[in-house]
Amino acid sequence: MRDLLVVGGGPAGLSAAIEAARLGVEVEVLEEHAEVGIPEHCAGLVSLKGLQEIIGSGAPIIREIRGFRVYSPSGKAYTVKGEEAKAAVIDRPAFERELLRRAEASGVTVTLGERFRGDERFMVLINAEGTAGRVSKRIGLGVPESIPAAQLDLETPDFDDDLVEIYLGSLAPGFFAWAVPRRDGVRVGLAARGVVPLRSLEMLLDKFRPWRRFSGARRSAPIFGKVVIGGPLNVAHRGSAVAIGDAGGFVKPTTGGGVVLGCLTARIAARAACRFLSGGGDLSSFEKAWKSSYGLDFALMRLARSIYNRMDASEVDSALEALYSSGALKGAIQHDMDLQGKALWRLARSRMFLRIVPAAVRAIL
Ligand SMILES: Cc1cc2nc3c(=O)[nH]c(=O)nc-3n(C[C@H](O)[C@H](O)[C@H](O)COP(=O)(O)OP(=O)(O)OC[C@H]3O[C@@H](n4cnc5c(N)ncnc54)[C@H](O)[C@@H]3O)c2cc1C
Repeated sequence: MRDLLVVGGGPAGLSAAIEAARLGVEVEVLEEHAEVGIPEHCAGLVSLKGLQEIIGSGAPIIREIRGFRVYSPSGKAYTVKGEEAKAAVIDRPAFERELLRRAEASGVTVTLGERFRGDERFMVLINAEGTAGRVSKRIGLGVPESIPAAQLDLETPDFDDDLVEIYLGSLAPGFFAWAVPRRDGVRVGLAARGVVPLRSLEMLLDKFRPWRRFSGARRSAPIFGKVVIGGPLNVAHRGSAVAIGDAGGFVKPTTGGGVVLGCLTARIAARAACRFLSGGGDLSSFEKAWKSSYGLDFALMRLARSIYNRMDASEVDSALEALYSSGALKGAIQHDMDLQGKALWRLARSRMFLRIVPAAVRAIL
């Protein structure tokens, strides 16, 4: 009988395991793959502040990022660059290997190549299975809403190395496409509703003029994944089990970024699990604790996503123009990239406000 069993050796599972071990609990992590971080499914873009909180020094940074270029649905480009880097592209497999090293150094038992079967004996289960949904369904927890995504690595020297590019046009309905610099090129990806993402991504590379500059680049095999977009589950625990990371929906509904908030909320879950193990209440204390730290930010990010998804192309065009010309877009990169509540509040109070009213009313209705 283990005190705490963690399913999944991704960033959320390993962060929870490290925190629980630090609090003196005996922890085992089951990871179904023979290596952590493989297969990779992420673009690797994280805030430097979040990275510092999760891992401190020694993070496997590929590139520091100073800003972004966003293409409106009509194809107009808006470029915003800050004085200093606020974000970075990390090497995800190396990031997970570093978390694994720290987990093992803290006394966590990590069993690789072992899938959760359901007959294991444990006092508390932390489900960090990502978007798979198998474990959550088995133990009666919800599965967060997600959309399919595809990415390709392109070998090309033809990319600004401290910017990410974002495409908001009709080939990526309900979400967006991205281009993120790597060591020897760029990782392009697309997540959307109601399309085959790889096909839309290939069409985008063929048809979208700014990205035709990648046309001769050598392409990797496609990388597939699912982006969680609906925000955290209303109830992420049941009995002695709790879902964290992507499995619990701890992903920014605005961007689909789940590394930083996934790891930070995983630590909160680990502390709740330790209290539960020492007889202090039930696992609902996890929900109270994450909501008190991040609940408002998640609610505003979810509202922003829901408004955006109800805007038509011309509303997005005019909102972007208003944000850019008022300087609000430039201001946004100074804000916290993970806790976006404050930035979204400021944007909503800028000149963009009138542009989003119709979509906001549609979202509320
Ligand atoms: C295309 C794409 C791009 C993204 N880009 C970014 C980005 O740029 N920045 C960002 O912050 N986030 C990004 N994300 C989101 C980010 O990848 C996830 O939020 C993050 O990986 C979640 O971590 P996790 O530990 O919850 O899950 P995962 O990283 O998915 O890890 C889950 C682990 O559980 C294991 N597992 C599953 N089932 C079982 C089982 N039954 N038994 C044992 N092991 C099991 C899996 O093998 C896996 O190792 C992206 C996601 C996608 C799909």
